[in-house]
Formats: sequence, C-alpha cells, structure tokens
Amino acid sequence: MLNKARFLTPFICAVLLTAACAVPSAKGTGAPATAWQQPQSASPAQPTQSPSPAQPEEKNADELPPQAPQADQSSSATALKIVRILLADNQSSAEIKHSGRVYVYTQDLEKKYKVSAAGTLAVRFAGNGHVQAGTLKSNQPIIIEPAKDTLLTWKDNIYAGKIFIIPAQHTFLLVEHADLETYLYGVLPYEMSYSWPLEALKAQAVAARTYTLKTLEHVKNKYFDLYSDVRSQMYKGGGKQYPSVKQAVDETKNQVLTYNGNLFYTYYHGNCGGGTDNVSSWNPHIKPIKPLAGAICESDSHSKSFSWKQDIPNSKIKSYTQQAGLSGKLKSIKITQKTHTGRATKITIHTSKGTKTVACNPFRLALGLKSCKISEIKIHNNHVHFEGRGYGHGIGMCQDGAAGMARQGKKYSQILKNYYPNSTLTTLK
Ligand SMILES: [Zn+2]
Repeated sequence: MLNKARFLTPFICAVLLTAACAVPSAKGTGAPATAWQQPQSASPAQPTQSPSPAQPEEKNADELPPQAPQADQSSSATALKIVRILLADNQSSAEIKHSGRVYVYTQDLEKKYKVSAAGTLAVRFAGNGHVQAGTLKSNQPIIIEPAKDTLLTWKDNIYAGKIFIIPAQHTFLLVEHADLETYLYGVLPYEMSYSWPLEALKAQAVAARTYTLKTLEHVKNKYFDLYSDVRSQMYKGGGKQYPSVKQAVDETKNQVLTYNGNLFYTYYHGNCGGGTDNVSSWNPHIKPIKPLAGAICESDSHSKSFSWKQDIPNSKIKSYTQQAGLSGKLKSIKITQKTHTGRATKITIHTSKGTKTVACNPFRLALGLKSCKISEIKIHNNHVHFEGRGYGHGIGMCQDGAAGMARQGKKYSQILKNYYPNSTLTTLK
C-alpha cells in the first residue's frame, strides 16, 4: 500500500500542479509531492444508491456535544489550528460508519441527536437544498461529531475529526474539520512512504505543516481550506496512525520553515534527477526566494524515478498540438530553453503547418511525462520517445533525496536546510 501510495504521489504532482507541486496562483492552492503515476481523479466517486436513513438510537436534545475529540491540544500551537478538508463534493449519498458514540446536529444546535453505539449513518441529499443524516434533515450543514475515542469511516478512510454534510444545489459536500497535527497523520503516508527513514518523514512533516499553514493564508473557498488530493496534499484521514508517521509528526510538533520570518510554500516533489531548480523557472509568476532557488541533490539516484524512458503515442501528441492551435504533421519537438540543471523550460514543436513554442510544464502535464528534465526526444512512426530524469516539478524538497540523506545519517534539519537553503526551522508558540 505504501509503495502504491508512494508511486501515486509523485506522479500526480508531476502531472497536476499541486500543493507541493501546485501553483497557488494558478490553482488556488499549491500542492506537493504526489506526482507519479496516473493522477487520481479529483472528482468524487459515483454515489451509491441512496440508503434509507438510519434511526438514531437515542435523542438527547439537552446534552451538548463534547469538545472535539482530537484532544491533547494543550501543548501544541498547531494542534489548536483547525483545518477544513474537502473529502468530496457532488455527493448524493454516503454511508459514514462510527466506531462508537457520535453526535449529529446542525450549527444552530436546535437539534442534537446522540447515537451511542457503533453503526452506520446514512447520509443523503434530500431535495430542495436539504441534506439528511440519520433522521435529521436540514437545509443547513449537518455535523457528525465523534465522541472521544470514536472514529468515523467513509470509503475505508478513517477520520478523527468532525464531518460536515454541506448541502449544495443538487448534492452535498463532505468536509472534515480536523486539527492540523491530526491532519498531518493522514497526509504523510500518502506523500511519502511510512516505511522510509524517520528523519526523512520528519522533514516531510515540517514541509507539509508549513505548506498547509501557508495555504491557510489564502483560502478561497467558503466551506473548506484544503482539498484531499494533489490540489492541496494527498490526505486519507488522520484516524489511522502509522507509528512511524505519528512519531515524525509528534517529534516536529509546531515546527515550520520560515524565510525572513514568514512562512513560504514549501514545495516538494518525488525526484529531482540530481538537482532542484529555481521556482521561477517552473512558474514565472511565483516570486523567487532563496529557499526555493534550487539545491544540489546527491542522494536520489537510488530511485527508479531517477531516470526514465517514456513512449508517448502520436495520438496523444496530436491531441495536444491541436489544442495548442497547431495542425499538420509532426516534424520535430525540441528543447529551446532549459535551466542549468538541464530542466527544459521551453519546448518548440514544429509541424508541416507551423511552429509553436510552449512552456515545458504544461506540456509535460498534458502528455504525462514524469518531468521536464528531458535528455532525449525521438520521433518514431507511431510514438515519440522521451528520456529524462526525475519525477515531478523539481522545486523544493526532493523526496527521494530526503530519503537518501536520511539513510546516510543526516538529520531532518540538515535535509530541510539542503533543499530549502536560507530557511529557518522555527517553532511556533
Ligand atoms: Zn533529488
């Protein structure tokens, strides 16, 4: 599972611009390191047939819901920070399992249902802007709040926070409110394998925490702060806690990276192919700062992602060139601008009808190339053969390199210093 998650992550980031890998200005959030296999669909799964609403076992209109169960918030500044994560939109029905007592209510607290035993709550869109959870029906968001030690499960992912059922026009959104540290428990295993060295996981924890807090400075959506996919960071619930991940998050609690006293987007990616690049070479709209100016990476060559070969079918190339407004038979694809590390920034495509120069990043995302560090392009009858290095956008921390450094005995602070030069490891009060 880990390997799978690890594999998925780099590809998606490489393919989509996301958190560590996304461009905030262009996508709403930046995003991380997932970029590496087929991108996961950002659209929600098809809803199943609407189940009949479950009957709450107990109603207790007088009892207020308990405090949020994530608890242990006393000693952590970031644990006090609640993040709102979009689990899915466009839903018409959902089944939310609870391992123990939950409280079901609306914000105005006029109706509160306490369900005492483990079971399943049926949630559905009930028409006319209403949603229903169990027997509670409302045109306001319905909150499912787990009591202490209760966990919620939706589609095999386990959540420790409250789940909000938010009515939309003909469907509903599922949004979890979780504390930041619990959120990170559910991010790390899907952005980096839990089996990787602890110091690499700790570096990832600091990068993901910083990225999240930076993202919260520019929230654009009314009901949520973060996506649960590569548009922000991959997240599958903080209720399942891998020991190594928990240790990495807990041992770096409240720690973030700053530059000149400010948080910055701590982009990360799967593999840089021997060196990272300046953020402005990836996206000219992002202000270049020293921590994102590029770094030497000497510890990522152990990975399969370090070098690659890909054959892209002519049909896919043709589809891309047509969308780019270029018709005719493909004659050549050439790199016409690249960084000092060899990462292409401009690609020029020549056909029998004309010539067009495009930025490499959207080009690679459209074709599904693993990176822009392209070393060879050959046109064949039915496909175009590409060779190159690395996985993802090559900005910020190289995850394979972080793992390599950790295996060489480097501490997470050294790893972060290498990939985000001139940044400061800061503990939030
Ligand atoms: Zn690297």
